[in-house]
Amino acid sequence: MPSKCPECGGDVVREEGEVALRCTNMSCPAQIKEVLFILLQGMR
Ligand SMILES: [Zn+2]
Repeated sequence: MPSKCPECGGDVVREEGEVALRCTNMSCPAQIKEVLFILLQGMR
């Protein structure tokens, strides 16, 4: 389990009950992807 964001090297967090990691860096380019991933997961 990576503890750093592969995109920006910032800290990542994993919410309880969530599969996806989320970067805490608001200006990270991976933020949008992570959010979309979480939304898609919730649709299932
Ligand atoms: Zn990041």
